[in-house]
Amino acid sequence: MEIVFLGTGSPLPDPNRAGPATLVKAGPHHLLFDAGRGVVMRMAAAATGPALLSGLFLTHLHSDHTTDVNDVITTRWVMSPVENPLRIVGPKGTTSYVDRTLAMLSDDVSYRLAHHEDLTWAPPVTVVEAADEIVFEADGVRVIAAPTDHAPVHPTVGYRVEHEGRSVVLAGDTVPCEGLDRLCEGADVYVQTVLRRSLVEQVPVQRFLDTMDYHSSTHQTGETAARGGVGRVVLTHMVPAPFPGTEHEWAAEVAVAYDGPVVIAEDLLALEV
Ligand SMILES: [Zn+2]
Ligand SMILES: [Zn+2]
Repeated sequence: MEIVFLGTGSPLPDPNRAGPATLVKAGPHHLLFDAGRGVVMRMAAAATGPALLSGLFLTHLHSDHTTDVNDVITTRWVMSPVENPLRIVGPKGTTSYVDRTLAMLSDDVSYRLAHHEDLTWAPPVTVVEAADEIVFEADGVRVIAAPTDHAPVHPTVGYRVEHEGRSVVLAGDTVPCEGLDRLCEGADVYVQTVLRRSLVEQVPVQRFLDTMDYHSSTHQTGETAARGGVGRVVLTHMVPAPFPGTEHEWAAEVAVAYDGPVVIAEDLLALEV
C-alpha cells in the first residue's frame, strides 16, 4: 500500500497545507479519506483524480473535512465518459449531507446536461452510512469502520485499511476511545489528526481553546499508539501547524508514551506501507 497525504491542514487557512484529505492506494484501488480544502488540486499533483476513486470515506461532517466533497463529485462526473457511480461512506447523516450537496450543485448539473449531448445522467452517487462494520471489500482490500469520539460532533467514525497483511488506520478527529483502540490493534501505520496542547493553551481566544476537548493531543496520540502496538505514527491536521524546525518537539511529545517512529506529515508526502 501507499499513503499520500493530500492535505495536512486544519480549519486554519495555510498556504502550504490543504484541508484534511488522505489517499490510500491499496492494490488496484484509490481510496480517499476526507475531502478538505483543495483536495482535487492535490490529487492532480499526486497524479490521480476523482474519476479514479473506488470510494470516498468521510470520518465526520465537520466543514474542514468535507468542503470539497462537491468538487470530487462534480469533477468525477464531468471527467467520466460513462456513468461512474461514486461510493461515499460516512457516519449517519452522510446520506442527507450528500443529498443537500447534490441540491446545491443542481444549477451546474442542469447547465452541463443541457450543453453536452453525450452526458445524459446526473452525478451518480451511492452512499453507505457506517457505524461499526466492514464498509469496503474488493480484490483483497478491506476497509473497516469503527466509532470514534469527537463529541459534541456525533456520530463520527475512523477507518482501517487492510491489504496483503498490512494495515493503515485513519483515525480522523477523535479523542482516545475504545473504537479507535480496536482499529489500531497491531496496525502498521496509525494516522492521527492532532493538537499540541502546550501551544493551543497559550492563545487567549475561547473559540480556539474549545478545540482542546475533542481532539487527540500529541501525548494522547502516543498513548493510543503504545496501547495498539502500532508500527509507526503519522501526525496530520496539526493544530496549530508546526513552525518549521519545531517538528521534533511534536514527535518528542508523542514519544513520551510511544517508542516507535513518528512522522510529521506535509502535503504530498507519500509513505510505503
Ligand atoms: Zn472535526
Ligand atoms: Zn478537523
